[in-house]
Amino acid sequence: MKIGVLALQGAVREHIRHIELSGHEGIAIKKVEQLDDIDGLILPGGESTTLRRLMDLYGFKEKLQQSELPMFGTCAGLIVLASDVEGESGYLNKLDITVERNSFGRQVDSFESELEIKGIATDIEGVFIRAPHIAKVGDNVEILSEVGDKIVAVKQDKYLGVSFHPELTDDYRVTDYFINHMIQK
Ligand code: GLN
Repeated sequence: MKIGVLALQGAVREHIRHIELSGHEGIAIKKVEQLDDIDGLILPGGESTTLRRLMDLYGFKEKLQQSELPMFGTCAGLIVLASDVEGESGYLNKLDITVERNSFGRQVDSFESELEIKGIATDIEGVFIRAPHIAKVGDNVEILSEVGDKIVAVKQDKYLGVSFHPELTDDYRVTDYFINHMIQK
């Protein structure tokens, strides 16, 4: 399959590597027309305000809101997929969740935590960098992982969102799950 990584900002190359390790072709997406030629899309981390601005500028917002593509958001990418952001408005509205940005208190800058992720593994290394957490989920959202009382991974239909950065480790099982279990071809 061909899996796109939105390449306006953030850790693009690392995601492409995980796509390739999962046995598929990874494509950096810089123009909306490229969306017609892929089977799924990864929205990387970075800074969600900047990411939203660039997505507005290059026409990605409308196109992705209408799109039926399966999507996987990491960190800022998760924020972009949410229907609601604490103190701001939601954006793509693909995941029925409320996220809170930069919300890990004293550990706000960065930390790592071994995660149990439902349906994937019990030993995923989660790298959190100024990470959001998911404060509220709608009825159709499945909670896949929590750190303490904070939700850090969810799934709804063909959309997957995580607060951390799986692409920054060598372990590609989360990306593999998105592509090989969530995308029908
Ligand atoms: N703190 C960033 C934001 O709120 C997200 C950080 C990240 O993607 N690593 O947009």
